[in-house]
Amino acid sequence: MARTCVLIPGDGIGPEVSEAAVRVLDAAGSGIDWETHQAGVAALESDGAEVLPEATCAAIRRHGVALKGPCTTPIGEGFSSVNVGLRKALDLYAAVRPVRNLPGVWSRFENVDLVIVRENTEGLYSGIENVITEGVVTSLKVATERACRRIARFALDYARSRGRRRVTAFHKANIMKKSDGLFLACARETFEGSGIDYDERIIDAGCMRLVQNPSEFDVLLCENLYGDVVSDLCAGLVGGLGVTPGANFGEISAVFEAVHGSAPDIAGRDVANPLALLMSGVMLLNHLAERDGDERYRETGARIRRAYDTALRDGAKTRDVGGSLGTRAFADAIIERLEPTPGG
Ligand code: NAD
Repeated sequence: MARTCVLIPGDGIGPEVSEAAVRVLDAAGSGIDWETHQAGVAALESDGAEVLPEATCAAIRRHGVALKGPCTTPIGEGFSSVNVGLRKALDLYAAVRPVRNLPGVWSRFENVDLVIVRENTEGLYSGIENVITEGVVTSLKVATERACRRIARFALDYARSRGRRRVTAFHKANIMKKSDGLFLACARETFEGSGIDYDERIIDAGCMRLVQNPSEFDVLLCENLYGDVVSDLCAGLVGGLGVTPGANFGEISAVFEAVHGSAPDIAGRDVANPLALLMSGVMLLNHLAERDGDERYRETGARIRRAYDTALRDGAKTRDVGGSLGTRAFADAIIERLEPTPGG
């Protein structure tokens, strides 16, 4: 069970949380050979040429799978987003962000178990911005039938394969009649007669409902910006960004990364929670199990999950979720609770 995966440590807390996550994945006997490549400010600092080196994209295309730490994007000026660039370069059109309660992690709600499916390639993230005249700028929201259809199709296939019962599209088609209108039209067509319940919420009312009764939602289908915002909102429902994993899927490659960013406010202090990235690593193992038809990856993922659930139940937690452990000590606490490798 040896498989090469790309590791992108990223910026800010990225190197700390990826070191911790990889240590747990290795200790669990995942059998992954990590090939490290840089992106973000780290890439600029290592060879100075680009924030998204072609060698990094080529390695992900070659191996098909990457675990990625967060990358910093300057606000308002400077280089464009590495994360958006990577998703576009590899056509990672679907982001999947599962949000569920964890044992031992306090939250205002119980029984939250929902998944955000976010369109990753267009909308307001197309990066088409113009200065019309002094003091007047525009940002173009792009919606194509192809992208709207394939994300709806992805959400349908995902719901079916995971035994999910309902998909809710979040939109603002009352105002953006053409772009969100197209998004909805494609979703309606895709789900008609599919056997999966489908409904729609105007995003503002949908957000209010999410914070009133999140357990009534199952799969949320969102265009790019709504998916970004709603992901953080939902993270807040179950304990925060430290416990919310994610994955970006394309036809050829998949990149697994936490919902959180590079958290410069806590970087380098050994306080960041590595769990969101570790959970993304478990999603990576489940993906390898499906892709390579090797159930041992899924079993390894399940052992890691049981180990971190036990650690959290025992009160071994990082600060953001009410504990006192540092990044490294939390990874050690999970490793201590790993059941032995079968046959090992
Ligand atoms: P952020 O997610 O980095 O941080 C928001 C808050 O959550 C901060 O207070 C931070 O300390 C806390 N937090 C985040 N992750 C945590 C963790 N693992 N453990 C404990 N606390 C954690 O969002 P931001 O501050 O808005 O963005 C910082 C940078 O990250 C920006 O440059 C942004 O563009 C980038 N970003 C990158 C990604 C990505 O790489 N996919 C995603 C989001 C933001």
